[in-house]
Amino acid sequence: MTTTHEERPSVGADPLSLPPQPVPDAVTAPFWAALAEGRLAMCRCEHCGLWLQPPLERCRRCAGPTRFTDVAGTGAVYSFIVQHRATVPGYLDNLPYVVALVELDEQAGLRLPARIVGIDPAEVRCGLRVRAEFTELPGGDFTVAVFRPVDGP
Ligand SMILES: [Zn+2]
Repeated sequence: MTTTHEERPSVGADPLSLPPQPVPDAVTAPFWAALAEGRLAMCRCEHCGLWLQPPLERCRRCAGPTRFTDVAGTGAVYSFIVQHRATVPGYLDNLPYVVALVELDEQAGLRLPARIVGIDPAEVRCGLRVRAEFTELPGGDFTVAVFRPVDGP
């Protein structure tokens, strides 16, 4: 006699329940490697010091070589949305959540998209001071930066 029992994967193992995973390439791999070590690093020109986001192999101002350099991880919300419906997998348990462009303190215009955590989404405002922290992205081997409000200017 045969059985028809089927193993059902747990919800956590269902790829459709997981957030999209990064796909590092030669240019962005150092960004992800730094995050895995609990550092936020952005692309910077070694000649003139210009920060470049998105990263480039050569500086757009002086054509100098670039490398990923640690930033302080502090900045301010430049713009944001409050996500009320799940449009990408992996965040059903976190609705509503905030996705922001965070302008880092190192340079005007140096902005990184990230989630804002630790605050009621209704309280988020442009200019809100935030600091990076690091969290594992479910479903893979990646660490991502999220930003949490801090006191002070
Ligand atoms: Zn340069």
